[in-house]
Amino acid sequence: MRLWKRYHTPATVDEALSLLAQYAGQAHVVAGGTDLLVDMRAESAPEPHEALVDVSHIAEMRQIRAEDGAICVGASVTHTQIVESALLAHEATCLVEGCGVIGGPQVRNVGTLGGNVAHALPAADGTTALVALDAEAEIVQGGARQWVPMAALFAGAGQSALDHGRDLIIRFRFARANPGEASAFKRVMRPQGVALPILGCAVWLRLDSAREVIEAARVTLAPVAPVPQRIPAVEAALTGQPATADTVGAALRAADGLRLRTSKYRATAEYRREMAAVLLRRALTAAIQRARTGQVTPEHAEK
Ligand SMILES: Cc1cc2nc3c(=O)[nH]c(=O)nc-3n(C[C@H](O)[C@H](O)[C@H](O)COP(=O)(O)OP(=O)(O)OC[C@H]3O[C@@H](n4cnc5c(N)ncnc54)[C@H](O)[C@@H]3O)c2cc1C
Repeated sequence: MRLWKRYHTPATVDEALSLLAQYAGQAHVVAGGTDLLVDMRAESAPEPHEALVDVSHIAEMRQIRAEDGAICVGASVTHTQIVESALLAHEATCLVEGCGVIGGPQVRNVGTLGGNVAHALPAADGTTALVALDAEAEIVQGGARQWVPMAALFAGAGQSALDHGRDLIIRFRFARANPGEASAFKRVMRPQGVALPILGCAVWLRLDSAREVIEAARVTLAPVAPVPQRIPAVEAALTGQPATADTVGAALRAADGLRLRTSKYRATAEYRREMAAVLLRRALTAAIQRARTGQVTPEHAEK
């Protein structure tokens, strides 16, 4: 079955944008294709798509680098590149751990961070980590290139706020990790058949100079809503409190009130509630330990 009529591989962002403009919304952006091609095969459209514009060869979108006190990760960076980045292991441990559990090696070798976010599923692992890192995205939307918060990218479950026939995510950025700051990601999934994430949890926190008190915390559990979001009640239970097991216990109690959904293919709400406590405890304990010692070794996926 033919899925598209023309396939373009632009080398620059400008070239990609001018191709998209040329097709006036009739082309579709593609990166690794691990989500898009599954969707295209499933929709069985009567006519092939006019064109695909492949952004995975654009050098500007494939870079991971430190810039002006921030870390920038291009939208076309693959999950494997992220897992193998020594810079990200230290600066964004939860992102390395989140991308490290996506699919298997074949999916991680071609699947990209931009595609993970643009596909807009609330349980997406790279997205969950970026939200805990308080990341921003550089996008081109309606012809304007601008930085926006992550929240501006989502319109609903599986619904991006971007038009994938016209707009682009170029890259993401988040603050560098200062001493006393660390993050962690934990996930539980159903390993049988198609691997379906049941619940993911990303935590970022900052300890005070004595490494005893949690000065700031950002916590994401996913999926808990149609769009990715942080959990303010849990963050409030952590902020300004001693970095102890009692405080972690209080954070778990604060998560008790979350309205988690039963999903036919993934898990019941009751199971998810129990797992939320398990993941939160593990992620918080790991992040506190990392922030206290400065020792960071991401948990890696199998190669
Ligand atoms: C077997 C399998 C297992 C998987 N397991 C997981 C998992 O465990 N966890 C998880 O989170 N995901 C998983 N996925 C989903 C998928 O691999 C990831 O979401 C991946 O990151 C998507 O990236 P991609 O480059 O392949 O996106 P593509 O399929 O190329 O694109 C996805 C969507 O994003 C748009 N897009 C891509 N790049 C851009 C850009 N720069 N700007 C604007 N729009 C863009 C495309 O137009 C398309 O609509 C799995 C997929 C498969 C097939």
